Amino acid sequence: MYPNVLLAINGAWVPAKDGRTLDVRNPATEEVIGTVAHAGKTDLDVALAAVAQGFDTWRKISAFDRAKIMRRAAELLRSRADDIARLMTLEQGKPLAQSKAETLAGADIIDWMAEEARRSYGRLVPARNPQVQQMVIKEPVGPVAAFSPWNFPINQAVRKISSALAAGCAIILKAPEETPASPAELVRVFMDAGVPAGAVNLVFGVPQEISEYLIPHPIIRKISFTGSTTIGKKLAALAGTHMKRATMELGGHAPVIVFDDADIDKAVAHMGAAKFRNAGQICVAPTRFLVQQGHYDAFVDKFSAAARAVKVGDGLAADSAMGPLANARRIPALEGMLQDALAKGGKLQTGGGRIGNRGYFFEPTVLTDVPVTARIMNEEPFGPIAIISRFEKVEEAVTEANRLPYGLAAYGFTRSSARAHQLMTEVESGMISINHYGLALPEVPFGGIKESGYGSEGGTEAIEPYLNTKFTSLLND
Ligand code: NAD
Repeated sequence: MYPNVLLAINGAWVPAKDGRTLDVRNPATEEVIGTVAHAGKTDLDVALAAVAQGFDTWRKISAFDRAKIMRRAAELLRSRADDIARLMTLEQGKPLAQSKAETLAGADIIDWMAEEARRSYGRLVPARNPQVQQMVIKEPVGPVAAFSPWNFPINQAVRKISSALAAGCAIILKAPEETPASPAELVRVFMDAGVPAGAVNLVFGVPQEISEYLIPHPIIRKISFTGSTTIGKKLAALAGTHMKRATMELGGHAPVIVFDDADIDKAVAHMGAAKFRNAGQICVAPTRFLVQQGHYDAFVDKFSAAARAVKVGDGLAADSAMGPLANARRIPALEGMLQDALAKGGKLQTGGGRIGNRGYFFEPTVLTDVPVTARIMNEEPFGPIAIISRFEKVEEAVTEANRLPYGLAAYGFTRSSARAHQLMTEVESGMISINHYGLALPEVPFGGIKESGYGSEGGTEAIEPYLNTKFTSLLND
């Protein structure tokens, strides 16, 4: 059963004041499965008052006790993972096993950030005068407005909520309207675990209306956004206008560089799984495959065979490896990029279109011979499409990898440590993984450079954007 999802404001689940709702659809069937409450300005004003009060309460709770509450939330999330995963698959489409893995990974992120709460150390700076004590103190930045997307309804939201709470901040999360139930269940575990009223609030509505109201509001001190580079630039500009700190986790167009000395079966296995997971709707999804001359033909054959073998179907079916796209607008978006690529000389190795006419299913697709002028070589595909190109010299591959303004994730496959080192130092990206898919664990940094954004949402770095550094100097006399 799919619920009608409410707002969570000041520790209570409430409908919008004016009763408005939006429909939620199952992308596998296109059926309306429930509704989500649609917040207006009156609701946002209540949420703003609540988050200010929630901050006042939460910041005074010791890091030790905050961590205890957070760890309880993580345990609740684990214990409810089966039910939450089902909701996520119904609203987002991904296979049940992926929904469950995302939910359990969310619990691990909460645990990691709970521990980081206890390590938000300041420091003592030796003073010139022996009677002076100089301390650097870390303080929570204040109430946070966070915006999380529909591709990972829990994973993107949990990074923001748990970093904020670990630092002692309170938060208003605007979660995705298209996939609202699983992030609502995430918020519920924090409330049930004992996070005080107002410290975690959840709203849905028209994204632009909410961001334009919350970001400039004087109560809000910090912004975090995950989504497209286009929207990220707008929100970062708004945050800048009002001198608000911001974390931006934006789009990517990850290169995968496969050298002649690589184990191509391993490369196909690792990158095939990463490419088609979540139907390719992942900011760190591998997209531009650059394969060295000697391996090129074999790689194209093997990767295309791997794409053909992906079983596409309703995420609730046990044998589905890839579900539908999460929303209807991804279909024309992908079709437009494909048509453009083919018109410019690209060759279709496999796939190439929508499957059926009910549910937003799309074939795992492989393109070759696509010129760099094609849109798909420049715009984030955000779908199950791999584009394979050939290169001869390492420098060519590095130049192509760095050609785009994106700089989120990159991958390399080689047995040479010299080449691996060259990629690790020369490829412009926030994250690079060699010979496997090794990203996005709670304990490692997660974030991009260039137009992929700024700030990290993982590792020891994740708490820092939610902390102010205060310098104190005391003369004891
Ligand atoms: P979009 O650019 O309209 O929206 C992207 C996300 O931003 C959505 O979650 C949306 O609710 C939110 N958003 C949009 N306008 C906003 C605003 N003014 N204020 C606050 N939030 C706002 O596109 P879309 O059709 O939802 O997604 C398509 C593109 O978005 C993809 O091609 C991909 O590039 C990008 N995207 C990236 C991620 C990521 O993990 N980095 C996640 C989802 C979408």
